[in-house]
Amino acid sequence: MSRVKILDEETISHIAAGEVVERAASVVKELVENAVDADAQIIRIGISADKTGITRISVTDDGVGMDFDDALLAFRQHATSKISRPEDLDGITTLGFRGEALASIAAISKVTFTTKERGSASPEAARVVIHGGELISHAAVGAPEGTSIIIEALFYNTPARRKFQKSVPTELSHVYDMVERIALSNRHISFVLLYNGKERFQTFGTGSYPDVIAAVFGSSFSKELTPISGSFGPVKIDGWITRPGSEMKTTQTRFYLAVNGRQVTSRQLQWAIREGYGTLLPKGMFPAAFLDITLDPREVDVNVHPTKREIRLSREREVMRSVQDAVYQALHEERVFSPAPDHKPSVCSRLTSFSLPSPAPAYDSVTTLPAEIVGEPMPVYAGKRETRQSPLKQTEKQLRRTETHDLPETDLFVPEVLGQIGDTYILAKNESGDLIVVDQHAAHERIMYDQLLARSLSAEAGQELIVPLPITLSKKEIAALPDLQDVLASAGYLLEPFGKDVWMVRSVPVVSSTLGDPETIHAILDAALDGVGSTDEVLDRVLKTAACRAVVKGNTPLTVEQMQRLLRQLMATKSPYTCPHGRPTTIVLSKSRLAGMFLRT
Ligand code: ADP
Ligand code: MG
Repeated sequence: MSRVKILDEETISHIAAGEVVERAASVVKELVENAVDADAQIIRIGISADKTGITRISVTDDGVGMDFDDALLAFRQHATSKISRPEDLDGITTLGFRGEALASIAAISKVTFTTKERGSASPEAARVVIHGGELISHAAVGAPEGTSIIIEALFYNTPARRKFQKSVPTELSHVYDMVERIALSNRHISFVLLYNGKERFQTFGTGSYPDVIAAVFGSSFSKELTPISGSFGPVKIDGWITRPGSEMKTTQTRFYLAVNGRQVTSRQLQWAIREGYGTLLPKGMFPAAFLDITLDPREVDVNVHPTKREIRLSREREVMRSVQDAVYQALHEERVFSPAPDHKPSVCSRLTSFSLPSPAPAYDSVTTLPAEIVGEPMPVYAGKRETRQSPLKQTEKQLRRTETHDLPETDLFVPEVLGQIGDTYILAKNESGDLIVVDQHAAHERIMYDQLLARSLSAEAGQELIVPLPITLSKKEIAALPDLQDVLASAGYLLEPFGKDVWMVRSVPVVSSTLGDPETIHAILDAALDGVGSTDEVLDRVLKTAACRAVVKGNTPLTVEQMQRLLRQLMATKSPYTCPHGRPTTIVLSKSRLAGMFLRT
């Protein structure tokens, strides 16, 4: 049965035109979207690459396929089965509709296209081979129902565009991101992604958001999310967002928005989500968000952008309002100020404007404890997991990590400790009688970061572990590791492959062997992969994450003696007044400022 038609001039004139094939990822997008539109249940994507670039892209689906004549017609410009009149543009329900992708791709590559119509009586499938827009063959072959397309020699006849391609890892990361996005918004379809024949990830078509998120990002990440839902009239909102207290990012890297199953970007909706968090969102930080919006297709204009990444919503304000409300409601139902039972607040989130309360210590007036007690067995926090050591002993260990015997002389006066408030801030006074408030975590982070940085520049960054630690890595992490080995080595890490997903941590930064625990390694890889940048920038992110993990936290009681040592170490650093993230470590309330506050003149 023939379905594909060439659009008439009038319809063509209404279509937002533009280049759709910018890079390998755009080819993958168009082909995978065609498979989704063809009602496929399973879509397999294969990517091959060598040093020269991506050499082959294949997409195979079990969708409706095409008959013999349509298989060829589909490669003509403006050939589509999805719309036929200008009015159809007002209610698009498919991902494609312009009939341009196959023609554009075939013009700049070597294509082998095999398709067999679902339920057709004919035993044969059609095979079309096109090189650089020129038909090489159109023949009957044996093949199963569905469609398979192979793209080779992409951009072989367009040297300018070929030159524009970035490094293989960069192009691959765009491809992966594209497939992940389409998989996240089509959860009833099973996607399998292979790179050079090896499986990178697979979703199972269960329809569940957490299942797909776990398949793509790992199950520990999916546990950091909380569901949101909302509706107004026929508009439905569903999704998952970062649970407050879980790690937030300084950039919006994980924002996935699907409108009627199409992945799109929208600054407005991004904004609406952040508004929904209100003061629960630390300044300058971004939550992860996975959001599905379903509404009448007539209320969405998808025909505004060549690659359809942007859309126009006719009732955008109402949609924004509903998203904001849905976020607000979900977070307040979560009872954000008491962590969920299975939830460990991340250390780094503490750095920002709110933190989760710690369990009450089993002892009081900690600041007056004599220093000797540190060696004694201490009561542990009631009910706190994983605490075999007394908190004070653990704190002592953390502090000793940065204790060096040859502490540089400092010109700065080391303030005299007065006490600790909120188990988080050190109160001290300086020689002129100003009041000094120090954030103990930020301060220790500065000290640790400076030491890690100094070591990374020397040859002695790492210490070999006597017993190497096994760690299970995600596919994404494994794919990135070869490129990261040098940076990790500068930080003191040596990781080696051991089994399929298992790697061995053989060496960790000298300052602390605890920097080898799996959670820290995952955080460090995450930081390294979080954005692009020069080697130095990536190393810097790694060191900051390591520093954050190895130091004294907030909500930790310290003795006067410990606080005094911490301040001495801080004053010996080059920039004692800011932490490596640029936030203040120290606030000074000068004598004159205090006088002013008390209206003394
Ligand atoms: P569009 O998707 O905008 O219609 P394309 O150039 O991507 O344009 O595809 C042209 C036509 O080829 C589609 O309308 C569809 O009928 C058919 N087609 C493409 N890919 C597939 C596929 N994987 N399975 C079935 N039909 C397909
Ligand atoms: Mg298409």
